[in-house]
Amino acid sequence: MRTLRLYQTACPVYTLGPFARYGIWVQGCQKRCPGCASPLAQPLDGGYEADLVTLCERILCEPLIEGITISGGEPFLQSEALYVLVDELRKRRDIGVIVYTGCSFEEIAKDPLTGLCDAIIDGNYIQELDDGRALRGSSNQRLACLTERYRHTIGFGSFRRTTELLSTKEGKLSLVGIPGKGDVQAAEGLRRFWIERD
Ligand code: SF4
Repeated sequence: MRTLRLYQTACPVYTLGPFARYGIWVQGCQKRCPGCASPLAQPLDGGYEADLVTLCERILCEPLIEGITISGGEPFLQSEALYVLVDELRKRRDIGVIVYTGCSFEEIAKDPLTGLCDAIIDGNYIQELDDGRALRGSSNQRLACLTERYRHTIGFGSFRRTTELLSTKEGKLSLVGIPGKGDVQAAEGLRRFWIERD
């Protein structure tokens, strides 16, 4: 398993967990949730193939990050490749791992990738249940702290819901974090303004 299909990566990210993080958005999700904040990450054949060794070295070159957050797209559609990446990172540095998945925790409990995570936020996005809380899109989503690492620093009430407009490692402008209602359209307008301006 040498590659991972990615939508985008960005660093540092401050809106998807505590401390500075390396954000990894995998490509491909079949849930098709109405109101999904990352519709371009849904097609299974979109994005690009990233070499795992190169990605691993890029992450390890970031001195200030405390950990990584993996989102998407659906991370557990590529859990074998992510396991290889996270396992290698963990062997070389004490890196915290947070994963967002559209699967339920029960569905992925036995996946080896789950065993490498410090925290998982589960469940697909349900627009009608969007309650504006930090770190989750809708109230059906649950936080599972699988180690002690984030037990006191992560929670749906311990942060304000915020987003960042970041330049990704792939050279795009992207809205990162958990967007509020209207944020996605506002960010798309801003992104187009900058592209047309150039
Ligand atoms: S599970 Fe997440 S990435 Fe997949 S369609 Fe739903 S909101 Fe989008």
